[in-house]
Amino acid sequence: MGNWKMNKTFEEAMEFVVGIQDRSAEIPTDVEVMIAPPALYIAPMEMIKEPVYQLAAQNCSQHSYGAFTGEISPAMLESMSIRYALVGHSERRTYFHETDELLAKKIDGCFLHQVVPVFCCGERLEERKEKRHFITVLHQLEHALYHLKPEQMQKVIVAYEPVWAIGTGIVASTEQVQEMHAFVRTSLADHFGEATSSVVRILYGGSVSPSNSAELFACEDVDGGLVGGASLKVRDFIQIIQSASKS
Ligand code: PEP
Repeated sequence: MGNWKMNKTFEEAMEFVVGIQDRSAEIPTDVEVMIAPPALYIAPMEMIKEPVYQLAAQNCSQHSYGAFTGEISPAMLESMSIRYALVGHSERRTYFHETDELLAKKIDGCFLHQVVPVFCCGERLEERKEKRHFITVLHQLEHALYHLKPEQMQKVIVAYEPVWAIGTGIVASTEQVQEMHAFVRTSLADHFGEATSSVVRILYGGSVSPSNSAELFACEDVDGGLVGGASLKVRDFIQIIQSASKS
């Protein structure tokens, strides 16, 4: 899953679309590709014939309609058949002060409108240094997701993104990634049951690149990646997609 954040002019976005569509034959059929572009570009990117990607919003409101200037609602996403939305990206938590309590409401808003939430969690550097990374992530999961029914949880995609690895070029080691992904899966099993935790997809995000994606995706509990910077270039993104293929 690519997250473009607030990058690309419209022209650059369309160049990317043409570029990736031209190379569609290089995209393995067993990998699901999603792109979360700036919201303005969702509609034009949706109009492409047989897109190789599915579209996601980078954020959505907890409300369905109303006087919330500047917001995009899950009802609007549903009305455009946009099936995914990032919820709780660390940049939203940090710069827009989104709390887990608010994120729980956004998750509910998504479910009200058939939008699959891609829930982001992850610890800050000081929390890892103080060995509080497991407690931090557990707290995020508990407060934002644990009120769901198991059948809802099965649809949620979790993205583990250690904050210290996002956009820094510092990638978590495969040991750190596997350890946290296994922890997330076990925690979900404790609360929702094994049948649910085993089907939840857990993505890793944080400086994923063509040079490290294969070994990250080879970790047992890693089901894919949430890719920022490296999703902006067609060549890099395709290489990362290819490394996620099991074939
Ligand atoms: C992200 O935006 O979620 C992200 C992980 O960014 P980057 O790949 O650039 O670290």
